[in-house]
Amino acid sequence: MAFEFITQALRQQQTQSLLRTRAVSNEAINFSANDYLGLSKHPDVIAAWQRGASEHGVGSGGSALVTGYTPAHAALEEKLADITGYESSLLFNSGYSANQALIKALLNKNDLLIQDKLNHASLIEAGVYSPATMKRFKHNDSGHLAQILTHYRPKHANSLVVTEGVFSMDGDMSDLRAISQQCKAHDSWLLVDDAHGFGVLPQGQNSLKQHGLLASDVDLYMATFGKAVGVSGAFVAASKDVIEYLVNFSKPYIYSTAMPAAMALCIDKALTIMLTETWRVVHLNQLICYFKQQCFLRNITLMPSDSAIQPLIIGDASKAIKISQYLASKGLLVKAIRPPTVPQGTSRLRITLSANHSIEDIDLLLTRLQEALNINNGGAS
Ligand SMILES: *Cc1c(COP(=O)(O)O)cnc(C)c1O
Repeated sequence: MAFEFITQALRQQQTQSLLRTRAVSNEAINFSANDYLGLSKHPDVIAAWQRGASEHGVGSGGSALVTGYTPAHAALEEKLADITGYESSLLFNSGYSANQALIKALLNKNDLLIQDKLNHASLIEAGVYSPATMKRFKHNDSGHLAQILTHYRPKHANSLVVTEGVFSMDGDMSDLRAISQQCKAHDSWLLVDDAHGFGVLPQGQNSLKQHGLLASDVDLYMATFGKAVGVSGAFVAASKDVIEYLVNFSKPYIYSTAMPAAMALCIDKALTIMLTETWRVVHLNQLICYFKQQCFLRNITLMPSDSAIQPLIIGDASKAIKISQYLASKGLLVKAIRPPTVPQGTSRLRITLSANHSIEDIDLLLTRLQEALNINNGGAS
């Protein structure tokens, strides 16, 4: 029988507690979304989308090089370049495609690609399919990165180091200063995927400013609109030449229908709110401090993270699912993250906080979390 592996693979996922199902989101208090600033439901953001749709329709009608590039797209790109301090920027429909586009367009057979071990699947996968030599350095270890650069850089034409600003599953920040220094010392370019830093970090709302870096310290910057911006899509910021090169040679860019103008207007509005309603990022960071402190007082050991991503390692996949289900029964959405998204034996609750949460929401989470842990530890700890 053809394609027998399909049923087999699903059965195996089930027995290992690794089967993925898509729960239809309900009205639970959401501690799993990446909508860190609560902008996805902001009335002005919604109104911008609605007005945009009335005025420009709901589809862009083609790729950016044909009909899909409007004044709304151009203005958004300019705004993003301004916010990040780069010469130019380019819109993509998703972060996944932006990452694939960059690695595909920039690296050839004689080139070197060096990635943090914990980089997002979209980056690692692009590297696996790239003709360039890919090496991975130990998570956030600039010393190990230096060793790899020293050994491999001289044998390759171009070199690109890739890291995340804030790591998506651990919530820790990359050591960008040291990594940027290593890149400069070894004539390598640096790409930072700031999907979870953009809009969220207390210092300047991105990973460059958080570390006191300039655009000249990081050659390529990428972030998404599906996280703190609350919408969907992504952008790359870089020099004029890099952006022009992508427009000319990047297939994921050239052969994909552009985002609707209404969406570009909606993202533009969300960015304005992100930068003007600064109480959101302040409140979010207060909630982060409060949650961490309360967990400490209750002997709930979180991973070391100062970001909106606060993972609680459970270890066993089935136990992580049980705790998640218990919380769901109490009206709290806290999804379990299991391998292969995270390494074996590190299944976790990936708790994310948002500016839309209140202190009361956090207190409720703490109470229920403690109950869930007590039940599932069976008095063993
Ligand atoms: C979410 C995410 C992406 C993918 O972005 P999408 O717009 O959801 O496709 C890429 N990199 C990181 C680090 C992410 O967290």
